Amino acid sequence: MHQQTKKRIMLIDAHSHLNGYDLLDKGALDAALAEIVEHKIFTVSNSMDLPSYRRNLEIAAKCDLILPVFGVHPWYASEYIDRLHELHEAVERSPMIGEIGLDHYFIEDRTAYRDQARVFEYFLGVAADQDKSVILHMKGAERETLDLLNRYHTRRAIVHWYSGPLEIFRELVARGAYFTVGVEALFSKHVQDIAKEIPPDRLLTETDNPGGPKEFIGRPGTPILVKDVIRKLAEIRTTTEEAIIRAVQANLTELMRNDPRLADAVKKIKFGDITEIS
Ligand SMILES: [Zn+2]
Repeated sequence: MHQQTKKRIMLIDAHSHLNGYDLLDKGALDAALAEIVEHKIFTVSNSMDLPSYRRNLEIAAKCDLILPVFGVHPWYASEYIDRLHELHEAVERSPMIGEIGLDHYFIEDRTAYRDQARVFEYFLGVAADQDKSVILHMKGAERETLDLLNRYHTRRAIVHWYSGPLEIFRELVARGAYFTVGVEALFSKHVQDIAKEIPPDRLLTETDNPGGPKEFIGRPGTPILVKDVIRKLAEIRTTTEEAIIRAVQANLTELMRNDPRLADAVKKIKFGDITEIS
């Protein structure tokens, strides 16, 4: 019998949408939650709008490894443009703000861009007032997003699934952003180049489950996919999986440090159950 060294490890999926499992087969959500518990995956469950946030809160009540966060995704900005006052309560409750940002790639109707910017600016304003981190979507609007971060003096930002120009990536690095790397790193040379260049103290891992990975793996993602991302990151950055896991664990706790609203989350990430790496 061989002996296994037990180590304190918590995997991190810093960008998922657990409410999205409701749209899949019955049982998909329970299966995802079982994976999260079995593999000890601390999961930041992002919202797209108010109903998805309510659902994420319900899901998080069933599993203490889930951090539900509120934001309005740029795809849904127009629905909220005249109802921003309805968002205050959810914003106040949420310890981080996500998913928010701009999308000029998947959304081709340029008339929607004004609404996107208006809603994004609302969130950047309240995030600054309440000193909260923001989780950003900026596909095809990298420059515009960066300009707004500068204008609102956004302090703590997690850039989700960055795949844009390298020079803007470097400006984001210079202004202190963190980056969640996900499944596209398994397939795209450009995303691998970015993943290689992220400073070790800014690296985070994600899945964007369940919908995000679909076009890459041919089916909705499940939480364990984060292990494939970790394996690939170790290869790209010529280090070990354990080093990636530890760096990501340290980075997320650093980002959340000194925020009493996230003290519980930090405890779970740092002192989570003892488990083996395999
Ligand atoms: Zn997302």
